[in-house]
Amino acid sequence: MPRSRSRISFPPPTSARGNDAVTVIKSAESRPIESTLIESTLIKSTLIESAPVKSVSDSLPKQNLLDLDREGLERFFVETLDEKRYRAHQVMKWIHHRYVTDFNEMTDLGKALRAKLQEHAQVVVPGVQFEQPSIDGTHKWLLGMDGGNAIETVFIPVDGRGTLCVSSQVGCALNCQFCSTATQGFNRNLSTAEIIGQVWVAAKHLGNLPHQRRKLTNVVMMGMGEPLMNFDNVVRAMSVMRDDLGYGLANKRVTLSTAGIVPMIDRLGQESDVSLAVSLHAADDALRTSLVPLNKKYPVAELMAACERYVKRKPRASVTFEYTMMKGINDQPQHARALARLMRQFDNAVQMHDAAKVNLIPFNPYPGTRFERSPEEDIRAFQKILQDARVLTTVRRTRGDDINAACGQLKGQVLDRTRRQAEFKKQLQARGIATETRDEVRIDTEEVDHAV
Ligand code: SF4
Repeated sequence: MPRSRSRISFPPPTSARGNDAVTVIKSAESRPIESTLIESTLIKSTLIESAPVKSVSDSLPKQNLLDLDREGLERFFVETLDEKRYRAHQVMKWIHHRYVTDFNEMTDLGKALRAKLQEHAQVVVPGVQFEQPSIDGTHKWLLGMDGGNAIETVFIPVDGRGTLCVSSQVGCALNCQFCSTATQGFNRNLSTAEIIGQVWVAAKHLGNLPHQRRKLTNVVMMGMGEPLMNFDNVVRAMSVMRDDLGYGLANKRVTLSTAGIVPMIDRLGQESDVSLAVSLHAADDALRTSLVPLNKKYPVAELMAACERYVKRKPRASVTFEYTMMKGINDQPQHARALARLMRQFDNAVQMHDAAKVNLIPFNPYPGTRFERSPEEDIRAFQKILQDARVLTTVRRTRGDDINAACGQLKGQVLDRTRRQAEFKKQLQARGIATETRDEVRIDTEEVDHAV
């Protein structure tokens, strides 16, 4: 059971929501993020209010049960189906522990209930468009989300842990300069079903049994998209990840990674209880703004203050600061010293040793990028400066780069609502670099299959 839960709300059925231009969902207690948040993008902020619970007699599209967390499912059973609460728990186990989506196969439910479910509900999981295993055990799925959009999800097994990197949006509206996803522009937020559906697909593939044979031990919301721009759906999906009737992951094993949307970090601290990671990449405003344009809106000092509030709310919590190492950009000794100072200030402010952890990520190149990976010796020298300043620092092992599944390389299929994809392609063509098509990706898949 998760320690805290999100506000109960019933999202509209997936079929009715396929092409929403949704950026932000507003709750009663928080202010929405303005559509002007990222000036360089054309995001349309659409307010979605919680849909009222419908009665069985209403002729609505069927409710996708993957869109509901435990509380939502209980309400659906009690208020919509006129059934007992525990029936919701049985169904949740069938879906997330046994990967059954056909109500007829849920054999401990009576015939009448199964018929009712057939009539009013469905379990719709994302379709696998194709999948790629890597020679290092990493596994990537391209999952179809609707007519033209697809997102990527990656499983990374390392040293007895199995981490799934989950996407929260189709593309991303934040235009981080070193990020492959950013070059694809943005289409829409993913629904709760589309987020938890990624976990379902991977867990089923792995033969994961939450309380017996656990293959999936960690989830990181670090795939395509900025999770805090899709707050309610992400929090609801993370609730299922941490629920015993869902995937039973401990709070600290679910990590949300953000580029730094300050008000939403505060809201996350109030409404959920997961590990926080922040994509920092630079310790000073000028450099960080050039890499992460969001920094203009929420500069480093404001971001660090929000992280302090997050940690102070949760005893023994820490924040992981991700730092992508790019050759000649942010990997020099002066950058390391500035980062060490910032991390020490953070530890002092929250009065906890090692509250700040730094994860150095060697940049993973992708076609057309102007950035390069820092040389190994520079990364080690950078790490040493931090460690000498007593900052807990790890270097992420690059995994899955043979299948473009490494950090920052995820690239689905985005029906771009911004002009960014077209602009990026134009830039590549001007530089004589061939643009990738989905057919070319399929050829890569066959090559990887051979290699395995
Ligand atoms: S790094 Fe993350 S937040 Fe930045 S553009 Fe890429 S997906 Fe979006």
